[in-house]
Amino acid sequence: MIKMRNISKLLKELATDWKNNNFFRAKIKLTIYYSTIIFFVVLGYSILLHSLFTVHIRVRAENKNISFLTDVKNDFLEGTKNGLLDIIFLLDTISIFFSVVLGYYFAKKTINPLEESYLKQKRIISDMAHELKLPLSVVKTGIQSLSIKETVNIEDYEDLNEDIITEVDRLSNMINDILFLEKTENMLDISFRNINLSELLKKEIDFMKNYAKDFYIDIKTNIAEHIYISGDEQSIKKMIDNLIKNAVDYNKSGGSVFVDLDREGSYAKLCITDDGIGIPSSDIKKIFERFYKVDSSRSMYKGGSGLGLSIVKDIVEKHHGSISVNSIENEGSKFTVLIPIV
Ligand code: ADP
Repeated sequence: MIKMRNISKLLKELATDWKNNNFFRAKIKLTIYYSTIIFFVVLGYSILLHSLFTVHIRVRAENKNISFLTDVKNDFLEGTKNGLLDIIFLLDTISIFFSVVLGYYFAKKTINPLEESYLKQKRIISDMAHELKLPLSVVKTGIQSLSIKETVNIEDYEDLNEDIITEVDRLSNMINDILFLEKTENMLDISFRNINLSELLKKEIDFMKNYAKDFYIDIKTNIAEHIYISGDEQSIKKMIDNLIKNAVDYNKSGGSVFVDLDREGSYAKLCITDDGIGIPSSDIKKIFERFYKVDSSRSMYKGGSGLGLSIVKDIVEKHHGSISVNSIENEGSKFTVLIPIV
């Protein structure tokens, strides 16, 4: 009774999937195509085997058993042929089952990556829509308030103006990050070549020093020379900039950032350490997720999109490396990246 109910529930679920889920339909259709192909290949092979065997046995019987009476010889040949036919029939029946299983396996192999990437894109679009709502509504409310001139005094005006600029910055950062993420995910424009990481890091630090100066933050370095990795220069630059920018943005005025590059076995080890606001232990696991932001009231910086670290993680993984973080709230954070040396 329970089993019947389970079976009818399963059939109902399959029918709903068939109706609503394009990927499920595609998997079933592909299973049918693949298993039909596999089955016909096996069947063709069986027919060929049967014909060759029959000819072979007849030739041998003709040559060797010349003294057989014709009837006995024909009985023997028929018996052998029928025995062979039975075996082939049994094997073909089993092969129908295996061709369906194999067909389903290949169909899953073909469709699953497409389904995963579709679900990923869907999730990004819904997260994005959700994240865009807040800045847009802040901008809209700000503009509406500014347009009622008599109710806005000069301090409110400045605050509103600042809020609007912050939210517009956040929107523009988010759009740039989404475009970059999309590019790295699809490996578009990614070309791997040997990069002098030591030199690239020095250049990026010079560039980021100007940014850090505005917050009275000092960037100290300890960079080993001639460390080469195989990678995409634009992506590596983005990874360095994001990590150093975070170390500055989530710091305190007058704080410091330390960038260290060295070899560790067959890896280049890049450590970016700051003595800033740190990350609460409950948030550490989530900071690499898309759009995840730790409570923004803790930091001076409010323009983050929550995409920076997920981009960094994507880049590191595309370069066959790994990233880890150690952080203590109110004391600072240390991000460690390992990428194979060439
Ligand atoms: P965002 O664009 O908001 O900076 P990220 O993905 O780069 O997004 O970072 C996610 C969250 O992790 C940030 O909101 C921030 O709270 C926290 N975070 C990242 N780096 C640091 C750091 N060096 N120190 C403290 N908090 C950090």
